[in-house]
Amino acid sequence: MEINLPDYGWEAFFADAKSTSKNKHLEHGRVVSVHKSRYEVVTAEGVFSCEILGNVQFQKYSLDIPAVGDWVLLDRYRDTRIIVEILSRKNLIKRQKKHDRFPKAIAANIDTAIIVQAVGEDFSIKRLERILVHVHEAGVTPLVVINKIDLVSDEEKKRIKKTLSELHDDIKIIFTSFVTGAGIPELEQQIKEKETVIFIGSSGVGKSSIINYMLGYELQETQETSEATGKGKHTTTARRLIKMNSGVLVVDTPGTREFGMNEDGDESLKESFLKIEELAQQCRFSNCSHGNEPSCFVQEAIAKNILEQQVLDRYLDLQKENSQTAKQMRQSGKQSSRNRIGEPLRSVRAGKTKKRRK
Ligand code: GDP
Ligand code: ZN
Repeated sequence: MEINLPDYGWEAFFADAKSTSKNKHLEHGRVVSVHKSRYEVVTAEGVFSCEILGNVQFQKYSLDIPAVGDWVLLDRYRDTRIIVEILSRKNLIKRQKKHDRFPKAIAANIDTAIIVQAVGEDFSIKRLERILVHVHEAGVTPLVVINKIDLVSDEEKKRIKKTLSELHDDIKIIFTSFVTGAGIPELEQQIKEKETVIFIGSSGVGKSSIINYMLGYELQETQETSEATGKGKHTTTARRLIKMNSGVLVVDTPGTREFGMNEDGDESLKESFLKIEELAQQCRFSNCSHGNEPSCFVQEAIAKNILEQQVLDRYLDLQKENSQTAKQMRQSGKQSSRNRIGEPLRSVRAGKTKKRRK
């Protein structure tokens, strides 16, 4: 089987990276799916199940382990091929869960992130902004799709458009419906062949509908088996890269679908705030502002790199904001409800999004 690798996204960027590698004499290929310790790699000669070289596998950082979409160099060992090097990435989508020591690579070398929201309850400009921040940080171009527009009146559509106009001008937004077919040609036009895309969005917004439409057949849900028992654990979509009929490459993994969507960031912020409050109990002064006071435990934690100054700044901003709100509430004779846990985080999130977007 002869495969034309440019159809899989092989381009000058990776060829350049290969030409400077000490392994440049080796065969290259792209990781199309990741299993526990096996990687399916497409090369000019076909698709092969590969393993990784010990010293790649046991790198300190999990990011040095191949992800779907990576271009890798392969050596042959008996009948198998072994991944010995990951070529420089254009970008990397990664995720760090609360209790993980290191972030985990989810997908590499993505051209476009297609962020899908459905009109109605799923539509949220705040969540959209937050995902855009993540996508931007990963160095990936976003494309926003607002789906199921058949379900709303023209008036509602106008309202949504007005809300979306708050976003940066150069972000492309397409309104689609898989019931009426509206916007689908425009969407197809935006997603070019040989480009690698991912879909991001809540469950039920229509990601599979879009993928299946462009793929021309139903994506199969696959059963992931537990290594310990060999029995089926739960049904998940495999981590893989699919070449569609249109020539577009889609990375479809549960991780990419949820990228930037979970509230982990807020959770860790909440945890950090609790940590500050715990430390503050050991400050010399009970009304310590954690600035220049002597024997401030919070400042000590910052000096020891246990706490980030940035996190403290956000915490102090929030406290100031809360006390102002409380004062206003008192003045207007209302009880402050701002000290409920979870409430302040909303304003932190909004502030963070605004600042980073610029
Ligand atoms: P996913 O979970 O994001 O992959 O969403 P699906 O593609 O599975 O779609 C969820 C449900 O929404 C399915 O029942 C679809 O038939 C339906 N759906 C998808 N697109 C549209 C649309 O444009 N309009 C309407 N009314 N329903 C849609
Ligand atoms: Zn202090």
